[in-house]
This record gives sequence, structure tokens and C-alpha cells, in this order.
Amino acid sequence: MEKPIAVVTGAQQGIGLAIAQVLSTRGFYTVLCDLDERALSVAAEAIGDSSGYTLDVSDFAAVERVAAQVEDTLGPIAVLVNNAGINRDRMLHRMSREEWDRVVAVDLTGPFNFMRHVVPRMRERRAGRIINISSASWQGNVGQANYAAAKAGVIGLTKTAAKELAPFHITVNAICPGFIDSPMTRRMAPEAFSAMVAKIPVGRIGTPHDVAKVVAFLASDDASYVTGEVINVGGGMVL
Ligand code: NAD
Repeated sequence: MEKPIAVVTGAQQGIGLAIAQVLSTRGFYTVLCDLDERALSVAAEAIGDSSGYTLDVSDFAAVERVAAQVEDTLGPIAVLVNNAGINRDRMLHRMSREEWDRVVAVDLTGPFNFMRHVVPRMRERRAGRIINISSASWQGNVGQANYAAAKAGVIGLTKTAAKELAPFHITVNAICPGFIDSPMTRRMAPEAFSAMVAKIPVGRIGTPHDVAKVVAFLASDDASYVTGEVINVGGGMVL
């Protein structure tokens, strides 16, 4: 593969798809990882110079297999974007153990799994970029104890990895989207959706491309001295 390879999780729709599209226009071969084989192949075909891998990011062994397969068949992973995420919102006093476990497994253990299997080869090459998608909710948001805890965990993971990997020229940063127009937010009740948009100082909902362009910056040479940072992409919104 002549182009550098960028792996993007949760890339069949929403913010992940926009990240893959923007990285592709910036010269990367993109590897899309997600749950649905058909949606992935449609996305990969639309992007071009791209392949889709079906996997659940919470499955340690599956991530190990895919990371090895990408490296062995396509080439070295230059950029890893941990974007896959879910929410299962409910007030803490009603939240089930399953709702807690699943959100932590996908949103926090997923990024760990990918980093665990991609970082050893990045260390050997002494090069790499890791961008983790957290959320403005990490600071606490009513009805999102599971999601906020997982997304706060992503920031701890990011900052620790940034310190461990800085001597190896690997940067690790997190992005906190605010309220972005995607299938995740479109599942909300229309009144709750409008109430969130009303809280955004710039006066509009964010687009997946608003987030993707910041990912592209962090993946670029321009960001080689930026590591361990948490960048809000939320139009000034404070939850
Ligand atoms: P989305 O639901 O539209 O897309 C998420 C993608 O992740 C989907 O394609 C889904 O299939 C995939 N995914 C879910 N579980 C997976 C698993 N176990 N393994 C592999 N893939 C899996 O959501 P989005 O709005 O595009 O969100 C993308 C990321 O941005 C998430 O991490 C989300 O928490 C974060 N985020 C979104 C917003 C927002 O306002 N939309 C705000 C803050 C943070």
C-alpha cells in the first residue's frame, strides 16, 4: 500500500463515516471497522481506496485478528481513530447492569482493545497517531452515568497513553464532540433534540464533518507536537 493507512472504528455511518471520508480526501487509505457487513461495503465502495472489516470493538480477540490482518495484508497502520460508540441512557437509579456493562465495553474497552493491539507495532516503527472520540458528556450529564463514565475513562486512557508513547513519536489525543447531527442523536425525541440545539452558542447543530476535520488535523504533520490533549468540538456548548 503506497498510501498511509488510517483505521476508523464505527465508520459505517455518522461521525465515523465522515472521518473516513475526510481522511480519504487527505490521502489516506481508510480501513473501516463496524458491525454491519453490508453497510460497511456500501461505505467503503463510496469512499474508494478503502476496505471494510466487520467486528465488535469490545471483542479483544477479534480486534487482535483484524489489527494483525490489516498490518499483514495492507501495511502499517499510521493512524487509529477510535470512534465506535453507543449510548444506553437512563437515570442512575433505574440503570441496569447490562446497560452499564455494554456501554463501558464498547465505549471504553473498545478503544483499549484497539490501542493494545496496534500500539506494539507503532512503537517498533516509532511512529503513529491515535485519536480517541470521547464526548462533552464526560464531565457528567443527567441520564448518562454509564456513557459519561466510559467517555471520562477514554480521557484517562488517552492522557496515559500519550505519556507512555511520546518517546516513540506516537501522539494520542481525544476529541469531545458536543451535539452532532448523526443517527445517534436523531434517535432522540424531537423535543429533547431541539432543546439540545438551543443550548449551542454558535446557533446550529454540529455536523459529522465538523468533527472529522479536527481528526484530520490531529492526523496531519501539522499536529506532530500535539499530544495528550482533549479538544472540544461543540460550537461553544457547555452541558
Ligand atoms: P452513530 O450511532 O451514528 O455511529 C456509531 C457507529 O459505531 C455505528 O456505525 C455503530 O454501528 C458503530 N458501533 C457501535 N457499537 C459498535 C461495536 N461494538 N463495534 C463496532 N462498531 C460499533 O453515532 P455517532 O454520533 O456517529 O457517534 C460516533 C462517536 O462520537 C461515538 O463514540 C459517540 O459516543 C461520539 N459522540 C457523538 C456525539 C453526537 O452528538 N453525535 C457527541 C459526542 C460524542
